[in-house]
Amino acid sequence: MQSEPETPSPANKSEPRRFPCAQCGASLEYAPGTDVLRCGHCGHENRIAGSTAPILEQDFRETLRSLATNAATRDNVAIHCDSCGASYSFDAATHAGQCPFCGSPVVAKTEQHRQLQVQALLPFQIGRDQARAAFRRWLGGLWFAPGGLKDYARNDARLAGMYVPYWTYDADTTTTYQGERGDDYQVQESYRAIENGQEVERVRVVTKTRWTPTAGTVARFFDDVLVLASRSLPRAVTERLEPWDLASLTPYREEYLSGFQSEMYGVELEQGFERARELMVPIIRRDVEYDIGGDHQRIHALQTRYGDVSFKHILLPVWMSAFRFRDKIYRFVVNGRTGEVQGERPYSAWKIALAILLAALLAGGGFALWQRYAAVQHHSPTPGARIYHG
Ligand SMILES: [Zn+2]
Ligand SMILES: [Zn+2]
Repeated sequence: MQSEPETPSPANKSEPRRFPCAQCGASLEYAPGTDVLRCGHCGHENRIAGSTAPILEQDFRETLRSLATNAATRDNVAIHCDSCGASYSFDAATHAGQCPFCGSPVVAKTEQHRQLQVQALLPFQIGRDQARAAFRRWLGGLWFAPGGLKDYARNDARLAGMYVPYWTYDADTTTTYQGERGDDYQVQESYRAIENGQEVERVRVVTKTRWTPTAGTVARFFDDVLVLASRSLPRAVTERLEPWDLASLTPYREEYLSGFQSEMYGVELEQGFERARELMVPIIRRDVEYDIGGDHQRIHALQTRYGDVSFKHILLPVWMSAFRFRDKIYRFVVNGRTGEVQGERPYSAWKIALAILLAALLAGGGFALWQRYAAVQHHSPTPGARIYHG
């Protein structure tokens, strides 16, 4: 990665391609939910040529080998944020501004990134206006949010349409296991009990488990195990945007990125597969338990062979806004396909304190009433009351 001090030259092939309007020369942008590029200036539309080419899976191990020689990569020019480490595509309109991932001001500094080619993407379905409306609704529903936050978010927060990088992995797995199968059986057990002051013998039914050593093999083909390749978005936030309609993946075309930005992947192909394996293991364990059968299962050892591993590098559409509030970063994201909203949010300490105080006052008021009632009871001329007051 080398730093470039200024705006890269337009001749640089790795800069996002511009699609000039045939009618007025302004830039055409992808119109979410359609298959056209639209001119924001004159409304002229250009249909994106559909591709019938299948989205090919790439061989994982072969690509790792060619990555070592940079054969499979291309250079991308990207803006780099020093605050959060995000790298995302150069865009003239937002070049100088705030980082969409952390809300920090970014300076116009670009870098070259060696990246594997994107194979497929899900185009944006939700437009900016819809995303903004969702953001407003979300803000409106925030209880206990500091007042300043809502004003800030309403006026200053920028929504960025970002294609977020993901890997998907396929693998044909074969797992051999050793374990134990537990089968329940019932036995009658006699015991002594005391009944009516007499010791008697009684019988009860007790469940026991018989364990038998077992071993075997299970096989499962995993298709499109999805792994986030961004390091700038917390996994906790992005996982809540799932599931994605991966069946609708479209072959990559630069037209879909026009008017949007895309993030460079920060999780390498090989690291991504480690995460994919973590996601596969619980499913394999479930297969093994099913294979063992019985009432209980114990797994002592698992050896999994991951055959025919292939992958795709894909982009998924997310509207996002990051705002800094009292030195903390809060992120708001919208699934660019479904409009589903997820967000991190600050709480106003004094608003919560006030609510707790209010609740305590209400409860306390009730308690005071009860006390008065209790006191009246005590004042009644009963012997107990006299003793109590005496
Ligand atoms: Zn035009
Ligand atoms: Zn940042």
